[in-house]
Amino acid sequence: MISNIYIEEEIIDHTRTRQILARFKNAEQIICTHYSEVFNPSAQNFRLQKNNPSLILAKKMNRFVHQAPDAYRIGPYHNYYFSHMMNCIYDCRYCFLQGMYRSAHYVLFVNYEDFITEIKTVASQHSEDVAFFSGYDCDSLALEPVTHFAKYFTPEILNIKNAYLELRTKSTQIRHLLDMSANPRCIVAFSISPEDVINKIEHKTPSLQKRIDAIKKLQNKGWTIGLRFDPIIYYDGYEQAYKNMFETIFSAIDTAALHSVSLGVFRMPDKFFKNLIKMHPREHIFSGPMESSNGMTSYKFDLENKMIFYCEQILLQYIPAKKYFRCLDA
Ligand code: SF4
Repeated sequence: MISNIYIEEEIIDHTRTRQILARFKNAEQIICTHYSEVFNPSAQNFRLQKNNPSLILAKKMNRFVHQAPDAYRIGPYHNYYFSHMMNCIYDCRYCFLQGMYRSAHYVLFVNYEDFITEIKTVASQHSEDVAFFSGYDCDSLALEPVTHFAKYFTPEILNIKNAYLELRTKSTQIRHLLDMSANPRCIVAFSISPEDVINKIEHKTPSLQKRIDAIKKLQNKGWTIGLRFDPIIYYDGYEQAYKNMFETIFSAIDTAALHSVSLGVFRMPDKFFKNLIKMHPREHIFSGPMESSNGMTSYKFDLENKMIFYCEQILLQYIPAKKYFRCLDA
């Protein structure tokens, strides 16, 4: 439940601001000049704030769309990402956001129209298809009942003839998608992990079964689904757990209709990783066989390759190689 909402004075009368404020009638409203006054100060404790984060409604001023690293490709597209929101209602222990931001408050940029304007401009610079990824600094759908992000962006993307949208999510907040006609240029990409990984380190996220149920409902309505097994987490018995998970998911969904499937292992800039260890000194996954190379912390090279090879050879029993993508370090 959100008890405090900070609002930049410039967007106080924005329609989206009004709609959100109407939803949280009992929340205290605090006007600010710029979201950074609340979000950026250094003396903040991410873990403490995570217990009761505030919502900050703000206006993004520039740099709406960024080029995505080549390694994150999921098809023959030019790849870009954008962030209408910073931070997440879930609490995955491996999430880089807690290492990157000082604050756990949710920042929502309400000027969606400006994002679309820049997306149109970027798409018009290419004659080929262009993929725009959301869910880089947040979960794309987790706060959908409040943000109406997918409800707005999905039809807008359909109006841009060479644009594709990837909604990256662990959420089951799919009602708005089920209420619309399926958009063939929108990929709802579910991050999937074995149930024991979800229980132990993907705190507050929907169970594996609930994610599978959401995928089935979306597929029944004609939505295009991607699967993201990223990050694969190492622990005693990971092999059997991932094998079981692949079996469970591929026996439940329409595998032939999948858009793409990707695999990636845990990786994070060293600086963020150090912050995570300070926050969770006893967290088992960080005491595993990690190493730092070129400013990134990841599993040791041999182990990383072994994990990827193991999962790849099982995955490729279920899906054709042309639909498989490996996420590499940026
Ligand atoms: S769902 Fe994604 S953005 Fe949210 S906490 Fe987990 S890893 Fe971070």
